[in-house]
Amino acid sequence: MNLILMGLPGAGKGTQAEKIVEKYQIPHISTGDMFRLAIKEGTELGNKAKSFMDKGELVPDEVTIGIVRERLSKDDCKKGFLLDGFPRTVAQAQALEDLLTDMEQSLDYVLHVDVPKDDLVKRLTGRRICPDCGATYHVIYNPPKQEGICDKDGATLIQRKDDQPETVSKRLEVNLEQTQPMLDFYRDKGYLVSINGSQEISKVFQDIDDKLGELA
Ligand code: ADP
Ligand code: ADP
Repeated sequence: MNLILMGLPGAGKGTQAEKIVEKYQIPHISTGDMFRLAIKEGTELGNKAKSFMDKGELVPDEVTIGIVRERLSKDDCKKGFLLDGFPRTVAQAQALEDLLTDMEQSLDYVLHVDVPKDDLVKRLTGRRICPDCGATYHVIYNPPKQEGICDKDGATLIQRKDDQPETVSKRLEVNLEQTQPMLDFYRDKGYLVSINGSQEISKVFQDIDDKLGELA
């Protein structure tokens, strides 16, 4: 099962990814998570990515495509994968097509979680994440059992630096420009599936699950 999750920042990709990988046991490959981990660990990759991320800009394609190529070549991707946050540009989408062709693989679905832009600012500024396991919460829409504490491992939740109101609008702007040509790219190839992301978290997952059931 080779999948891509697409959608604007805050659409619910990370939230749905957690549920998809739990049920279907495929690796969740989030370029944003990979960059954040690299920054936390102070690696060379982290240093390269940090200045772009802090400004809400995209990390250059060559860096991003490189880490995805490396990750997809790992053994655990043989049974499938869920890409989240990649591709973000048509150049990345084209590079992924070439990479998969080399691996004698192809995509099954590109799941586009669709949410109107006006709802996204509220979702992003209220988002809290676990710095240790990456779990995602929302102060109102999806609160942890105990305020500020991760349900899974008890760590203190944090707000991402790029979820501050000033960075949020810039990120949405950058993404809106990039998303449309990619949706067109995947629609032309016949992979695109549109999911209504404005529903409750469990209902969004049910719609995704119904679609994935067709692959089983
Ligand atoms: P993305 O990975 O697409 O940026 P997230 O999964 O991190 O998005 O979700 C953004 C924020 O919105 C999080 O705080 C999350 O808890 C919340 N959220 C996700 N899905 C929904 C939903 N269907 N309804 C309301 N809030 C949601
Ligand atoms: P969101 O979807 O909420 O913006 P992500 O965690 O996917 O958050 O990404 C956070 C940041 O990481 C982006 O703003 C960007 O700087 C960088 N990034 C993640 N994925 C990519 C990508 N495919 N190409 C370029 N930059 C990326």
